[in-house]
Amino acid sequence: MIKLKADYVITMNEKNEVLKNAEVLFDKKIIDVGYNLKGEEIYLGKNSVLMPALINAHTHLEFSKNKTLLDYGDFITWLECVIDKREELFISCKGECYKNAIEEMKKSGVCAFGEISSSGNDLKYLKHSPLKVVYFNEIIGANPAIVDVMYQDFLNRFNESKKLENEKFKVGVSIHSPYSVHPILMDKVISLAKEENLPIQAHFMESKAERLWLDKGEGEFKIFFEKHFKNAKPLIKPIEFLEKFKDTNTTFVHCVHANDKELQKINEIKAFIAHCPVSNRLLNVGKLDLEKVKNNHIDYSVATDGLSSNYSLNLFKEIRAALLMHTELHPKYLAKDLLKAVTKIAAKELNLNNGSLEKGKDADLISFKLPSEVKDIEYLPLHIILHTNEVEKLYINGEEI
Ligand SMILES: [Zn+2]
Repeated sequence: MIKLKADYVITMNEKNEVLKNAEVLFDKKIIDVGYNLKGEEIYLGKNSVLMPALINAHTHLEFSKNKTLLDYGDFITWLECVIDKREELFISCKGECYKNAIEEMKKSGVCAFGEISSSGNDLKYLKHSPLKVVYFNEIIGANPAIVDVMYQDFLNRFNESKKLENEKFKVGVSIHSPYSVHPILMDKVISLAKEENLPIQAHFMESKAERLWLDKGEGEFKIFFEKHFKNAKPLIKPIEFLEKFKDTNTTFVHCVHANDKELQKINEIKAFIAHCPVSNRLLNVGKLDLEKVKNNHIDYSVATDGLSSNYSLNLFKEIRAALLMHTELHPKYLAKDLLKAVTKIAAKELNLNNGSLEKGKDADLISFKLPSEVKDIEYLPLHIILHTNEVEKLYINGEEI
């Protein structure tokens, strides 16, 4: 058993309590949070913060070798570039490359991440990850002639990963997007997720091009599809796509161009949104309307996406970008939401038993120090986001990593 004491303890419990000079007692699980708990205490120091470890809900580590190879600034140009360089990037990302990616997340206090795997190449590097992994096997493929082949390939990857499940490695499924997956494949993968109670992720309404294509079969995607696949047509209406995920645990990634009806639908089916602010900025797709997301009572996480559309996997940097980007929201309240987004909400998205310091939750926690005292506790989340890049301690299942 370990007992840590910090000047500020952020619980993320039902009441969202922040406790001053409080203690957390844990072994593999959190045993108790409060004052005068039994056992020898370790005091974390002046201006120390103890809180749930962060969760990066959406990554593509297969692309971790990218630094300067891809063109940013326009979604379709970037997509063409990704298609062009994909193999080169995948082949060059091996042991050291995955290790560095995980190390960067770890330093920023990440205890778990949701990995979108399109190839299965990453499995051998992630199965023994020191961080918790939720491994989303992704399906992509719109050509009806090869639906069976695509599904079989997906199933092979899925079964390989399923064999490796343990307390730190879990499996999920991912449907790439409404424009790139045939509805037959969507249905197959969703029914598998329902049977096995798996979390799902799907990119949705990332770009204006996607909006135009799915609504009218027009725009830049029309040119893109004409080049790559002859006679392509939009496969599904966006609202029908969302409907398919009823009674599942699904996270829609991006949603920058989702309209009011779609946001209402996302709320109705109790799905989540993963917000990737840096990726959205670099691909110049616009900005998620967080106020609308909140008004529609949708819970959102914040994630880095992959290094194919980011310069860093540091999750504190990511929420700082969100804080600076969403000028329509008061920083004090936005900061509170952002900390919740990368802990409690991300845990729900990934089906994990962590994200808050409450009795019975996995003992996944981080500690770090602020440069000076925060008198008004209401400003604590804001100062944490402004002043933190790396953490001092990271515990996963009660073990210091
Ligand atoms: Zn993504």
